[in-house]
Amino acid sequence: MSKIKLLPDHVANQIAAGEVVQRPASVVKELIENAVDAKASEIKLLIKEAGKTLIQVIDNGDGMSVTDARLCFDRHATSKIKNAEDLFDLHTKGFRGEALASIAAIAHVELKTKQATEELGTHIVIEGSKFVSQDVIVVPTGTSFAVKNLFFNIPARRNFLKSETVEFKHIIDEFQRVALAHPEISFSLYHNGEEYFNLPISNNRQRIVNIFSGKTNEKLVPISENTDIVSIQGFVSKPEYAKKNKSEQFLFVNNRYIKSGYLHHAIINAYDGLLKEGNQPAYFLFFEVPKHTIDINIHPTKTEIKFDDEQSIYAILRASVKHSLGQFNISPILDFERDSNLDTPYEYKNKNINLPIIDFDSSFNPFKSEENDSSKSKSNYKSNFIRKDTSEKWESMYLGLNDEFKSQENAYESDEIATSLFDEVDTVSQKKYQLQKKYIVSPIKSGLLIIDQRRAHQRILYEQFLTNITILNGASQQLLFSLSIILSKQEIELIKELKEPLENLGFVFEKFTKETVVFSGIPSNIQESKVATLLDDLISDIHVDFKTDSFSQNDIIAKSMAKNLAVKSGISLSDLELENIVNSLFACKDPNISPFNKPIFITITVDDLEKRFSL
Ligand code: ADP
Ligand code: MG
Repeated sequence: MSKIKLLPDHVANQIAAGEVVQRPASVVKELIENAVDAKASEIKLLIKEAGKTLIQVIDNGDGMSVTDARLCFDRHATSKIKNAEDLFDLHTKGFRGEALASIAAIAHVELKTKQATEELGTHIVIEGSKFVSQDVIVVPTGTSFAVKNLFFNIPARRNFLKSETVEFKHIIDEFQRVALAHPEISFSLYHNGEEYFNLPISNNRQRIVNIFSGKTNEKLVPISENTDIVSIQGFVSKPEYAKKNKSEQFLFVNNRYIKSGYLHHAIINAYDGLLKEGNQPAYFLFFEVPKHTIDINIHPTKTEIKFDDEQSIYAILRASVKHSLGQFNISPILDFERDSNLDTPYEYKNKNINLPIIDFDSSFNPFKSEENDSSKSKSNYKSNFIRKDTSEKWESMYLGLNDEFKSQENAYESDEIATSLFDEVDTVSQKKYQLQKKYIVSPIKSGLLIIDQRRAHQRILYEQFLTNITILNGASQQLLFSLSIILSKQEIELIKELKEPLENLGFVFEKFTKETVVFSGIPSNIQESKVATLLDDLISDIHVDFKTDSFSQNDIIAKSMAKNLAVKSGISLSDLELENIVNSLFACKDPNISPFNKPIFITITVDDLEKRFSL
């Protein structure tokens, strides 16, 4: 007897679903693509709880006949290709005929559809591949698919889903990819009843701006290239607008969103020295190639494709991006109307700034063993530091750091504290040196201490910000004029979610509009001019962590701000600044490693030195 059995359809469908449907966003992609293929001019996406309870796509396309409405849930049921040759002459997004069968195998699906030629439509309910009901219904021409309770019969998959924020972000990604490729179709997206996107029919450029906010317009440089092998149209961003993340990078081939590390490389290559390290340009590029020169059927989700002549496309792409950047990258327009008095509000200039209170352990001594620590009793007091020097460099250097201790008890000048900080040696009287504008070097009793200035300052700021967020709110400075920062809708949503920790840090939100976040106050130790970059970087960092999923908001915020505001390598520091970094570092709870798990200091002992000299 044969051991091999053909799997029943519903089992085969569930297996196929594993490939096609990884998460709610995969369903969104398949349903929207079907609506585009059905020649809809309007597509609505309704989502509840990031797709866990509902994903509904309503289109005004061709609709389906009664027979097709039933057939579409069968595996390999497609109206889009008839034979293998058609695979190389595709006019549609779909062609594998497996999306609906897969989705119906792992969810509750309700279909309502009607063709223009018919009076009445068809209503079908199917749950986990089982037909539940079919009847006649009065509906407008077009199709509505409602997918409920995704993965209801695969608990492992359902439990594996990430937080609502993460899953919804994936949905937005898929939505944007299709919406960008089809400005000739109007799209809208509602989440839990709230309108998220409403994109009217437009051209490519307007569509990009409608999705990514008005400020995108000024960033874009057009690209246009026509050759026999490929035509490339679209936009790349001017180098000065490059960001830390890849969230605005889109490649489309014959109107299909694709991923290609190879073509990405061609674009980055064209920027050739124009980008700061680690920065990413935005790009929205639409390639048209003869249909028979690509293979789309190499991946189930069809986001990776094969070009016949990839190398030529690389070269053409690189050259045309380079050309456009050269042609359009003009210096920023000077604004002669600008009143320079407005740059720093007068009142703010003369304002006494409240500095946050820092909690530190003055008796902490990394070079001293526990038992002979005589100054333990003095640990954990609070000290209110006041800043005297207001020069710019100073301000950026010593965010909330102590350059003057108020009480005699805290004064590092006093021998008592100095010895308790660095028991081995009186470091205060020991001069500290800066090496290569990067390291702080200081003799200690057992040898030599070498501190990485940037990492040390990151650690100091990180602990301060974390304290502000969680225990002790940071001080704010009231702004004379509110500060509006233009962001995309997605970015605004993100900032809304971070509102509370940001308020704790000292940000005062005035309002959120569709395209801006408006602040009436900001943390007292941050310059107004830095806020935009700070938010941009914060958004990037949160994006990155979405992927790694080590997602602790407060920690990311504190890290991101510390990274942004810490003194960089290559900056020379005064003696007092060196002093302060060292003192504040060893007042930290964890002075050994930076917030990014890098060592902050090393010591070279006299023994080490002697060994080296004895060679
Ligand atoms: P594919 O898109 O690869 O053909 P699907 O499983 O996604 O496979 O869809 C199966 C078929 O159902 C399609 O070929 C199409 O004929 C029909 N169909 C699906 N969605 C729609 C829609 N929104 N409007 C009209 N027809 C649709
Ligand atoms: Mg399809």
